[in-house]
Amino acid sequence: MRAMSELLDARGRTRRTLILTGAAAMAGWAGRAPALAMRDVSGADPFTLGVASGDPHADGVVLWTRLAPQPLAADGFGGMPARRVQVRWTLATDEACTKVARTGDVSADPAAAHSVHVEVRGLTPGREYFYRFEAMGHRSRIGRTRTAPGLGGGAAAAGPARFGVVSCARYESGYFTAYGHLAAERPDLVLHLGDYVYEYAGTPKSVRPFEAPETTTLAGYRDRYALYRTDPDLQTLHATAPFAVVWDDHEVDNNWAGEVPEDGQTREQFLARRAVAFQAYYEMMPLRGVARPAGSSARLYRQIAWGDLASICMLDTRQFRDDQPCGDGNKPACEARLDQARQMLGPVQEGWLRERAARSRAIWDVLGQQVFFGELVRPLPDGRDALPMDSWNGYVAARGRVLDMYTARPHNLVVLTGDVHRHFAGTLHAGGGPADAPVVGTEFVATSVTSAGDGSDDGAAVQALLGRNPNLRFSADRRGYLLADITPSTWTTHFRTVPWVTRAAAPVQTRASFVVEAGRPGLNRLS
Ligand code: FE
Ligand code: CA
Repeated sequence: MRAMSELLDARGRTRRTLILTGAAAMAGWAGRAPALAMRDVSGADPFTLGVASGDPHADGVVLWTRLAPQPLAADGFGGMPARRVQVRWTLATDEACTKVARTGDVSADPAAAHSVHVEVRGLTPGREYFYRFEAMGHRSRIGRTRTAPGLGGGAAAAGPARFGVVSCARYESGYFTAYGHLAAERPDLVLHLGDYVYEYAGTPKSVRPFEAPETTTLAGYRDRYALYRTDPDLQTLHATAPFAVVWDDHEVDNNWAGEVPEDGQTREQFLARRAVAFQAYYEMMPLRGVARPAGSSARLYRQIAWGDLASICMLDTRQFRDDQPCGDGNKPACEARLDQARQMLGPVQEGWLRERAARSRAIWDVLGQQVFFGELVRPLPDGRDALPMDSWNGYVAARGRVLDMYTARPHNLVVLTGDVHRHFAGTLHAGGGPADAPVVGTEFVATSVTSAGDGSDDGAAVQALLGRNPNLRFSADRRGYLLADITPSTWTTHFRTVPWVTRAAAPVQTRASFVVEAGRPGLNRLS
């Protein structure tokens, strides 16, 4: 397994040496690229931010890197000169990246912080591939990726799939150990549901302190992503599986809604901020060109078809929503919460989703999205019931419209969610109604990777919450991720947790596993 351990190395130096001394590798590589033979090897390695892939289709995938010889230079450019740089990419069928399937050259532009997005096409469906980049006399580490299975084989041909689900990784809160454990599980696809970075100013007393103001400028956002992406666990996860990403609030500003910031900015100031936040997000993520922002707008919502097994609709619940009702936060219900006109997805995205739902013939219909979808009541200290108004509980009519899309005819609806820094398993009920209405889907909420710190195993707090919310079957206040093993007949979610994040090297365990059977909505607890 030498090749795999090399693949999972955080640094590329050893591997580069090995590849250069391998005669077969030289014949396969340098023979095609004499102009890019190793020159300027004394220069700094520009691949400090690693490699990534994303948005797999049946015939292709996005390959990503960004050149940054000094990732923490705090200049918005990672120490790169203000000129275009040629980058060669290679996609191969073997772990050593020698059996080349596709290769090409692309120009890394300073206007995009020397990020590179290669949309490879013409590949074989449902296949594993390996890739790497070369630039400035250096080679990147080798990444693993895969294409989605093809459509049309039906349930019999739909193989199993393994998805990882993550959200909410605040750098200063702890170590990204959960990302590393998820990489070791070799998922086929990682859904990142937002809060990939946090915009807050660095705090000196945190677990991983850093110095930087709250992100508001293009350079500030870029440098924040660079800080996060120097993390070896995050780099390893990106180099292990393709990602499907969507942002939540902290990629821009805490609890932003449409054109409304958290505080302290005019609409014009906030839209300018949103534009640079979107730009830095696109630059750093393995997204297709259709997601490239135009000013303060970007089309991030999209479908990823995983053969006949799953249709994954990745939703943007920030950019087009109305402002939070009832004063935001956890608040007692007010009339505005139920206003029929209130939007979460906005009319265009909602119409797109309705069409996707109507046309879907996939066994599993998956929504990858940010905020708590099902009913969630959080009692206040004074005994009154409060609802989280930033979640779909503040957008009740919009939630009902989405559920109606998946009840016109039977679907196997699985909603995957982030944001709340706790694991949850829950059932979704017809029309968004109470727990005694028919079950029409399932929601699995991924806890945070680090946000909120180590957490606790206070069973009383969990039981109080579950007791007040009969639609919820499980919760845990620990950090971790979801691991979903999917077949044509069953969807199994494992709630993986780590006992601490304020120190490195935490082990991982499964706190609970739930199975959903295709054609029989509802949660069955395995362990
Ligand atoms: Fe968060
Ligand atoms: Ca959030």
